[in-house]
Amino acid sequence: MGGDLLTAEALAAGYGPVPVLHNVDLRVPTGTIAAVIGANGAGKTTLLRALSGMLRPTAGRIVFDGRDLRGTPVEQLVRRGVAHVPEGRGVIGELTVAENLRLGALWRRDRAAAASALDEVYQLFEPLARRRRHLGHQLSGGERQMLALGRALVGRPRLLLLDEPSLGLAPRVVAQTMALLRQLCDDTGLTVLLVEQNVRSALAVADQGIVMSLGRVVLAAPAARLRDDAELRHAYLGF
Ligand code: ATP
Repeated sequence: MGGDLLTAEALAAGYGPVPVLHNVDLRVPTGTIAAVIGANGAGKTTLLRALSGMLRPTAGRIVFDGRDLRGTPVEQLVRRGVAHVPEGRGVIGELTVAENLRLGALWRRDRAAAASALDEVYQLFEPLARRRRHLGHQLSGGERQMLALGRALVGRPRLLLLDEPSLGLAPRVVAQTMALLRQLCDDTGLTVLLVEQNVRSALAVADQGIVMSLGRVVLAAPAARLRDDAELRHAYLGF
């Protein structure tokens, strides 16, 4: 424990000729939650894609657990413990809950450990245990979100990159999801980078707030400061 699990230095990325991220620096200490916040189009999703290997950075460095990730294929990133839950979640509607979850553990060689991780996910998300034979498309929005998160967790990631986990969820489910993330970080040393439109919920659970605007990080500060300092909130978050 201790130290930064993830750092990015002068990271740049974009789509084809269109640059989106410019000179992004960030540090996420092991076992902490960083909330990435900012207006629509600020580049939050693009940042997660660059960090998870889905999008190749055009410049800069990403260091995960002391190793430069440049050019590392996505499968290897997954093996090293980087899990990405994209916006829209990617639950497969034609597969059952159990089959979707098993996909998250496919790459693991240790079958016994994979089975026990699966049991843990069923304990964490009781509705998934009850519906394990239901198809993905039969689930509610909240259950689908649980399934996407559960599928990432059965791989026992060290770094979880989560894009808008609260989108379309009831406030109670959002609060439960956030509390669960906090618990996993505190108990297991999981590290989370969380992209959220729901700024208050994100800052309530995060250790650090990373504010983005127009593809740049304009502020990285302790979440408590962003929660409590009205001037800072007005200036960077507009409330
Ligand atoms: P939102 O909350 O709306 O998802 P965001 O902060 O996550 O916003 P991004 O989705 O990263 O922002 O988008 C940043 C910029 O990149 C926007 O100008 C967007 O139009 C552009 N962009 C996003 N995806 C693509 C793509 N696949 N091809 C080209 N441009 C894209």
